[in-house]
Amino acid sequence: MKRPLILCLVAAAVCLVLAGLGVLAADDLEIIVANKRHKVDSRERGNREYYEVQDLAEILKLQFGETGGKGVLTGPRGQLQLTDGRPLVSFRGEYILLDQPVWRRKEKNWYVPEDFIQKCLPLVLNEKLDRQGALSYRVRAMRENTVQVEITNFPDHVRIVFRPVLRVPIRIRESGDFIQVNFEEHLVVPSVSRTKPNTDIVEQLEFIPADIFGVFRISKGKSYYNFREYDLERGQGKVIDVYAPPKTAQLPQVDEPRPPAESATPAPSDVLPPVAEVVPVFKPRQFTNIVTLDPGHGGEDAGVRPNSDDLEKDFTLKVAQRVEQQLRNTSFRAVLTRNTDAEVPINQRSAIGNYYQSKCYVSIHAGTNTSDEPRAPVVYVHRYQAGGDGAPSDANALVAWEDGQRSYEAKSRELAELVQSELNALYGAEGKVVELPLAVLAPVNAPAIVVEAQLSASGPSPEAADRLVAAVTRGVLAFLH
Ligand SMILES: [Zn+2]
Repeated sequence: MKRPLILCLVAAAVCLVLAGLGVLAADDLEIIVANKRHKVDSRERGNREYYEVQDLAEILKLQFGETGGKGVLTGPRGQLQLTDGRPLVSFRGEYILLDQPVWRRKEKNWYVPEDFIQKCLPLVLNEKLDRQGALSYRVRAMRENTVQVEITNFPDHVRIVFRPVLRVPIRIRESGDFIQVNFEEHLVVPSVSRTKPNTDIVEQLEFIPADIFGVFRISKGKSYYNFREYDLERGQGKVIDVYAPPKTAQLPQVDEPRPPAESATPAPSDVLPPVAEVVPVFKPRQFTNIVTLDPGHGGEDAGVRPNSDDLEKDFTLKVAQRVEQQLRNTSFRAVLTRNTDAEVPINQRSAIGNYYQSKCYVSIHAGTNTSDEPRAPVVYVHRYQAGGDGAPSDANALVAWEDGQRSYEAKSRELAELVQSELNALYGAEGKVVELPLAVLAPVNAPAIVVEAQLSASGPSPEAADRLVAAVTRGVLAFLH
């Protein structure tokens, strides 16, 4: 007769033991550092999961405190600033957009959503923080990647060869005044040859350690004309040739002015593979009338989940696909930064937009709205910081990283106003465009906006999607016509 009672007690004792061992509750996080598992308890607020900043700070050995009403998390590579009630984290004068607002529960007791761990923490850590599954992260040592840089001056161009010890993706970005070379995945340690470039063509080559992994910046000189980039054999590095204008007039009568592609002085053979292969003519493809649509999140990164069946990543993809359909009947064509449930890094998204020389770029997101009233989406545009916001003094070192929007601010604003007025009409609202420094838009070389739907707690209604599709399509077309 007593048996069932005993069994219950045994079961309860087992549960207690398991709890003591740190078995995860459904929404708790784990962070693995040097094979030791640390648990971070979740706390629910308005249907959303939050994690305490102090817990994260202790596990990752960061400092957390409050100054001037802001939460400040300090790591070896910089500071993150949190503001209560805003879905934004400031890092060196840029803002990183989170899926839900930061929450200051009480004094020195701050909470952040999970995407803070993916988007913000890696910026201040000296280690890599890899997501290895839902709610699970692993900290690993970041390796150093020595990059040898050789500079050679030719009569009409400067050749800069970058040879990293570790093979990693290398990205080249061009902006008004310079060309940037980014090596991903590991901390870059530069080893630059002593040759100075011809300053008429390349004013200077500098290494900026402040960027996440470190970045090389090639400043264009006063007679800069164009540049070409190509890979060394077997992915051993990158060559960048920076050209002065073809000097046809000053040359003694040569038969024909030769195109720059053939005019390069023969390369030292140890630098380059056979010449015929290395001169893929630098001629970017021309695209016309492309609109880039960026469905937020994807893959492991689900975005917000207004309830367990609906995920932001699915909503944003559906909306983008429907806008794409709508645009098929016009003279414009839409390109999506993802067309499947895949995780695409932010920089790759903007790179897609830039590659297609987009007429405009619309990033689609959704937040959750705790009330059941339908609320109009919010339209954001990027604004550059004037070095303010308590950013550390090396802020100017980072401005260059995401300079793509600089010449599009007014046009982005115009696009935002048009989409906003469509939304206001559909919702009978008087919403205003919000200007913020946004890491998701900063690198885009086109008029660019973020539209963030406000999904009610019961999940995305079909109407919310319809209205967003209509407003984005009409707003974009009004802007392009
Ligand atoms: Zn989002």
